[in-house]
Amino acid sequence: MREAWPIRRYRALQDGELRRTLARVLPRMAEGRVRAYEDDPEAEVRRVRARDRRREAVRNPGLVERAMAAIEARGGRAAQVRDGEEAAAYLIEIARRRGATRVVKSKSMVTEELELNQRLAAAGIEVRETDLGEYIIQLAGERPSHILAPAIHRNRSQVKDVFVDAATGFGVEAPASDDLDVLTAFARRQLRADFLSADIGVTGGNFLVAETGTLILITNEGNADMVTTLPEVHVALVGMEKVVESFEDLTDLLPVPAMNGVGRRLSSYTTMISGPRQPGQLEGPEEFHVLFVDNGRSQIRGTPFEEVLTCVRCGACYNVCPVFRQVGGHAYGSVYGGPIGSALTPLLSSLRYAHDLPESLCTLCHACVEACPMDIDLPHHFVALREQAVREGLKPKGVSLTYRTWSHWWESPRGYRRSIRLARLAQRLYERRGRLQGGPGLLGGWTRTRDMPPVARETFGEWWERQEERRHG
Ligand code: SF4
Repeated sequence: MREAWPIRRYRALQDGELRRTLARVLPRMAEGRVRAYEDDPEAEVRRVRARDRRREAVRNPGLVERAMAAIEARGGRAAQVRDGEEAAAYLIEIARRRGATRVVKSKSMVTEELELNQRLAAAGIEVRETDLGEYIIQLAGERPSHILAPAIHRNRSQVKDVFVDAATGFGVEAPASDDLDVLTAFARRQLRADFLSADIGVTGGNFLVAETGTLILITNEGNADMVTTLPEVHVALVGMEKVVESFEDLTDLLPVPAMNGVGRRLSSYTTMISGPRQPGQLEGPEEFHVLFVDNGRSQIRGTPFEEVLTCVRCGACYNVCPVFRQVGGHAYGSVYGGPIGSALTPLLSSLRYAHDLPESLCTLCHACVEACPMDIDLPHHFVALREQAVREGLKPKGVSLTYRTWSHWWESPRGYRRSIRLARLAQRLYERRGRLQGGPGLLGGWTRTRDMPPVARETFGEWWERQEERRHG
């Protein structure tokens, strides 16, 4: 059960430390993107080509079957899974067959979406996140708050507190300070033991090339290389929309996440995996599995919302969104926060579950559209989702009735004039010292925290009529 938006909003806005951290970090990331485009005259051309390649790939459902055939041809195993339950069952079956109890994971939003960690833990399988940000929030028992930087809501001293608590549980020496090197050294020491003892490595996938069945992982810490080479089994969970046709597509697509997310030309590590360890090779897993995840994606394909599937999870829309900049990711109450999360969450699950996201967490300012390398028109989709919510009866009856009455009255000049006269009378209930403040009913809640300009004592139409009467006697 999700908490109501006013509660999530109140908690976020009360958290001064969170708001200071967001105000410091997000504009820097957004400016990095702008500078990266200014410094590279070819970047815009590449971006448009990348967008077109993604649009083509998303419209082509046959790519998943091609990719599956290519993976199997190189000795890997491929399957399609409908939801979290099927994905977890697949992994649990591998774990039982191999007597595995320990999993290491690199950062993957799709596994968050499937609640894979919780499902595996319920089956007695221990999962350790190895991306530094994910490691921090796993220890803190939190969800990611930004698609690229999952622990962006925590500053160094808060991270130190998390590590000190964890050190007590692990029975190891706690970090002595909140110095970055000290904190990363602590995480590295603990994670090294996890890498070496893990039976299964789990990753997501940024892209997957259909022609060769090659999985592409983009990271900044190199932890994915450990996850995919040290354990004897590697399982990748890839959203079915992530498949692209050929390596040629990658030339334009690879720079997009880093360039738009943080303003860097490329991420630090790009890992390409085309199958399990081959005879004569010294490294790599014995088993390589790719699970193509649907979890609601096929119900978006072929609809007016299809373009949201072209998202490359760069996070650029998070960095520029005025709402996200104030409340951060946890206020969305869902795995995917930020502007793309406000569309993806109701589309992947249901509008009944998350109609508050497109309604309440967007000002329709269009900053996300300008930042998005895939040109996804999110505000357009939010308006469509709001309409759908009204059609499905998800809005309180009073709100729908108010809007219907309003639009009916304003369809005619007579109705408009009457409504203005009525509003002028009604506003007396809310007027305090020349401003609208407090008062009874829904409007009272609104005016308690916002300024609302009073209706003019005389509209332009009324003034004009008065002038005309005066002129013609
Ligand atoms: S919607 Fe666009 S800007 Fe936002 S994460 Fe996806 S690709 Fe990036």
